[in-house]
Amino acid sequence: MKVLFCSSEIVPFAKTGGLADVAGALPASLKQQGVDVVLAMPEYRGIEIACGDRLSPDLSCSLTPQGIRIYFIRNDRYFKREGLYGDGRGDYPDNLERFAFYCRGALSAIKQTGFRPDIIHCNEWQTGLIPVFLNRVLARDPFYKDIKTVLSLHNLAYQGVFPLSDFEKLRIDYRLSDSRGLEIYGKINLLKAGIELCDAVNTVSPTYAREILTPEFGCGLEGVLAKRKHVFGILNGLDYEIWDSLRDKFVFKRYSVDSAEDKAVNKSGLQKEAGLPVSSHVPLLGMVARLAEQKGLELLCSVLEDISPDEAQIVVLGTGEERYHRLLAASQDRHPRLLRAYLKFDEGLAHKIYAGADLFLMPSRYEPCGLGQMISLKYGTIPLVFRTGGLADTVSAQNGFVFETYDKEHLLAAIRRATSAYKDKPAWQRLVNKAFGYDFSWQRAAAEYLRLYRRICQTASCR
Ligand code: ADP
Repeated sequence: MKVLFCSSEIVPFAKTGGLADVAGALPASLKQQGVDVVLAMPEYRGIEIACGDRLSPDLSCSLTPQGIRIYFIRNDRYFKREGLYGDGRGDYPDNLERFAFYCRGALSAIKQTGFRPDIIHCNEWQTGLIPVFLNRVLARDPFYKDIKTVLSLHNLAYQGVFPLSDFEKLRIDYRLSDSRGLEIYGKINLLKAGIELCDAVNTVSPTYAREILTPEFGCGLEGVLAKRKHVFGILNGLDYEIWDSLRDKFVFKRYSVDSAEDKAVNKSGLQKEAGLPVSSHVPLLGMVARLAEQKGLELLCSVLEDISPDEAQIVVLGTGEERYHRLLAASQDRHPRLLRAYLKFDEGLAHKIYAGADLFLMPSRYEPCGLGQMISLKYGTIPLVFRTGGLADTVSAQNGFVFETYDKEHLLAAIRRATSAYKDKPAWQRLVNKAFGYDFSWQRAAAEYLRLYRRICQTASCR
């Protein structure tokens, strides 16, 4: 089985969120299961390519740290910029041309190098034009005949929407500009186009796969999704090469279930670093997240006035929308002994929080899969989550704290349940010890993807 895996961000080359983690880990697991996999992503600023790897002015080929071949699609005007998708002023206005260039580049790279995949695995709106070009533009070229496409949806809120007047920039058949092609609600929508024209659609947890068929979670695409025979749900895995409390290079002290007492060193280290009172009696609640509406920061900040600094301490690390930067900064000013907010992207500090916190907060309004809860379990840190998407598939009363009604009162009640459970030290330690035992490895997810690839290669289509 040959697979071209296309993602606009891949660890360790570029990352803004969980997509990059997935794209860095899933292909390696597929390779272990015998898949011949090649990656393709844009060549952003900061990615160093050796001269010998340059195959043509707009294509380089290199290897990932796991020895997987990767195509970098190059266009300095489009990709050598400050951000991946935008800068402080918002999304780049030419994202349509940028990612159309990337999709065309990935498709021409396979022909140029002679790597003819059975499957092109697309991810998110940035790759939504690949099924369009493949099935509508390149259909007569025998090289591309019978190549199947899978589109993985990691977050329905991001769809790649552009004004219809931009359509001509794509230089494709004008008939694709209507609702049977790229258009929905009077705009070009790249995710919608990908959903309609790929051979199989999946999302990153079974619960989210069901949720997105409803108006509440479908972000306007529930009708397009409902037209498909299946929307598969495959829970993401976790890369235990990166996330392992015993081998972690960032934490204050490494530990495992057999040396769980060393977790306390990480807690006091984090309390000290955060300028919070150092105490083993007060449970420390951590949160690491993109500061986006989905993540529940307003809800979290709304309960702070009801929590005393003797009851809990909270450390938040995140960066994103300006309004949440302001909200967190103001909340920290108001509750300096309760909340420490770090407003930046910091890999090392993220690891310190997963290790040093007693509880990990994910009050997300929706969460396609979520990695934080899986990471925190591996660090013996107990997740506290809203029951939605992948959080509902991975956290229960067995291994964490769950609230089921999305309001202040129910979040506060869950925090109170957790902080009072923390007081029973032996019972808490049992919960912590059990947490280490959860295994969300990529092998299981990769095996499920492989089954999906085989299924669409064998059948005409899962459309
Ligand atoms: P999403 O994909 O919606 O961003 P996930 O929970 O799937 O959410 O993945 C988030 C990933 O990004 C995790 O690995 C988390 O540790 C990391 N992350 C998010 N914000 C930061 C930050 N400010 N600093 C360091 N890591 C971060």
